[in-house]
Amino acid sequence: MKLRGRVVTPDEVIVDGVVEIEGDRIVAVGPASAGDDPAPGDDWLLPGLVDLHNHGGGGASFTAADPDQVATAAATHLAAATTSLLGSAVTDAPERLLAVVATLADATDAGLLAGVHVEGPFLAEACCGAQDPAYLLPPDAGLAREVVAAGRGHVRVMTMAAELPGADAVADLLAADGVVVALGHTAASAPVARTFLAAGRAPLVTHLFNGMPPMHHRSPGPALAALAAAAGGATCVELVADGVHLDDETVRAALTLAGDRAVLVTDAMAAAGMPDGDYELGPQRVEVRDGVARLAGGGAIAGGTSRLVEQVRRHAAAGLDPVRLVRAAATTPASVVGLTDVGALRPGLRADVVVADSSWSVTRVMKAGDWVAGA
Ligand SMILES: [Zn+2]
Repeated sequence: MKLRGRVVTPDEVIVDGVVEIEGDRIVAVGPASAGDDPAPGDDWLLPGLVDLHNHGGGGASFTAADPDQVATAAATHLAAATTSLLGSAVTDAPERLLAVVATLADATDAGLLAGVHVEGPFLAEACCGAQDPAYLLPPDAGLAREVVAAGRGHVRVMTMAAELPGADAVADLLAADGVVVALGHTAASAPVARTFLAAGRAPLVTHLFNGMPPMHHRSPGPALAALAAAAGGATCVELVADGVHLDDETVRAALTLAGDRAVLVTDAMAAAGMPDGDYELGPQRVEVRDGVARLAGGGAIAGGTSRLVEQVRRHAAAGLDPVRLVRAAATTPASVVGLTDVGALRPGLRADVVVADSSWSVTRVMKAGDWVAGA
């Protein structure tokens, strides 16, 4: 099968390009030749998007330890172009957290998810955002091992704060088990964060600027340390580029500074793809008003309501380079967590392809060679 349109590869936009698919593989990507079928058009052809930080959607939560909810949330994001997704657990009581991780591992075995992200419980109380402070713990090697075991090889990312006692040892233990440690929900000083990042202990930073103190020029904190480390190639930084978590100017500056080390994530909760209303995020109650999710009673921002392609559309419509956006929404996130089979329109990779019209609205989604939406 051949698809034709404006093909976004990690290196360029092929204005009249063809992506050729056989079975579940991409077998060729290049310029169209005269007589190629189908006819030329102005659709965009993108790789399936890769979201590393996602708590749910379609009214369902990955944090509920409920297989039906996991399937609903995964399907909501798949239909909107996210063909690879980590299900994110939140801080909760240990037995409950382990049950959530085990359920997400089952969904990974079933092919619904690409793995598991565990956000907490080794986080800073001062920067816990919507994570329930009642269940925060200092880094604990025993619990870290239990989380990894519950995930049966599928825990890809765990978020933790660098300044907590024992953080270095637990980060090293997780790395030895193949888990990417993400620095986040942290009040670390700039030197502590810089040392942690420079040692290679955190190949990823959880939602840069959110869940950390605002940057002050005399006390720049973890935000500047993370951005500088990303600019120097020592880590990757997640950005929730939905117009709510970060100002668009902040996103553009961070994309420029972090370059190929920027990763767009949704941090989506159950309300993604749904109307305003009352929802849950793990043990916390959340109100969504005008598309903004906050802890009940007007508290901290409690996750996002976007789907990843909406962030790409938002910034592409504002004139950002589609190549850079697709790298941040597919290629870099796949690479940082070791999903070597996806993340780009490149021969040999799994045929995950998104077709969007000239205004970046998704019209069709292919996963592993099968149309899963809009065929
Ligand atoms: Zn989150």
